[in-house]
Amino acid sequence: MKLVVLKFGGTSVADVPQIKKIALKVKEVVNQGYKVIIVVSAMSGVTNNLIDLVKTTSESLSYPEYDVVLSTGEQVTSALLASALNNINIKARSWLGWQVPIISDKSHAKALIEEIKTDNLLEFFKKNQVAVISGFQGISNENRITTLGRGGSDTSAVAIAAAFSAERCDIYTDVDGVYTTDPRIVKSAKKLNLITYEEMLELASQGAKVLQTRSVALAMKYNVKLRVLSSFEDLPGTSIIKEEKNMEKTEISGIAHSLNEAKITLSGVPDQPGQAAEIFGALAKHSINVDMIVQSSSINQEATDITFTIPETDMIIAESTIKKIQKKICFKKFITDTNVVKISVVGNGMRTQSGIAKTMFETLANNQINIHVISTSEIKISVLISSDYYELAMRSLHSAFGLDV
Ligand code: ASP
Ligand code: MG
Repeated sequence: MKLVVLKFGGTSVADVPQIKKIALKVKEVVNQGYKVIIVVSAMSGVTNNLIDLVKTTSESLSYPEYDVVLSTGEQVTSALLASALNNINIKARSWLGWQVPIISDKSHAKALIEEIKTDNLLEFFKKNQVAVISGFQGISNENRITTLGRGGSDTSAVAIAAAFSAERCDIYTDVDGVYTTDPRIVKSAKKLNLITYEEMLELASQGAKVLQTRSVALAMKYNVKLRVLSSFEDLPGTSIIKEEKNMEKTEISGIAHSLNEAKITLSGVPDQPGQAAEIFGALAKHSINVDMIVQSSSINQEATDITFTIPETDMIIAESTIKKIQKKICFKKFITDTNVVKISVVGNGMRTQSGIAKTMFETLANNQINIHVISTSEIKISVLISSDYYELAMRSLHSAFGLDV
């Protein structure tokens, strides 16, 4: 069976005229002889409104109920699109997560997909052409609806493409592909024709918003042919692929930025074994993701400073968590800074080329931009800087790495 998965994001299904246009686009693919699985997001803005709504009901949110409310956004769009397809004589129907079924664990609001059963849809495709699946949702083994975390429809689409061994998974969105950096900040940003899974994974996890990070990790794991395309213009988009030897070689493929960062410094931490384990263990218990970490070496072997970053949205809970263990750890000061941004340069070229860190640090120095924290991976260098300078940093790095031309 020739089968493709097409995913449409919120702006692509923002209203009924838009949904009718998508239906025509799907018809073209059906006419090429494909069975089509469509994965839809909620109409743009709907999920945010549902979150505001459910929050007004109770001070302590029940996440299972939160998931039932949030999943309605995708329920609406799947049925609207199926109806628009029927209207142009395409044999289609809507499928909710539990009807497929898409089975997830029970971590509500951030559930992980465990299994996608294919029997129901394979039976359906014997007589029909298009299945329109509500993205973002699953069903737990407790028979409750779950959601996969913000942006989770991308992950639904890739997981479905893997489960059905689809020929490809096309992610339709409001931009025409993956860019070297955010074009709203750097005017000279360029669309990339190709990018590797590893690079896309780093860019997504460092703040590029075009794909949910988990979806890229899944695509890499299952070798799903992934493309990002515009729903509004007929353009080739960006293909996300395995690294090939003869790929066009540039040092850096992209520059990402993340505004949701906060820096915490614990000063005067006694220099003894087990302190870091104590601090980061306490944060992990509250599912706070610690990203960059530096520890100064103590001169007199008595006390050190530990600095680390967390999502700014976790600041309140991190502060109370750390203060609870202050007596045990005996650090002197708790210092926070939320006026920080993380800038990351990413490129497979880093594996083989030296001097990338030098170019990055020199460029920032020439612009009088101070670096608070640095972290690296094999194909990424991240720096934490003051948010006053992040646009300047992005523009000058984009130019320094030859991405302007
Ligand atoms: N509607 C959900 C969200 O806004 C899921 C998605 O669109 O991917 O996060
Ligand atoms: Mg999205």
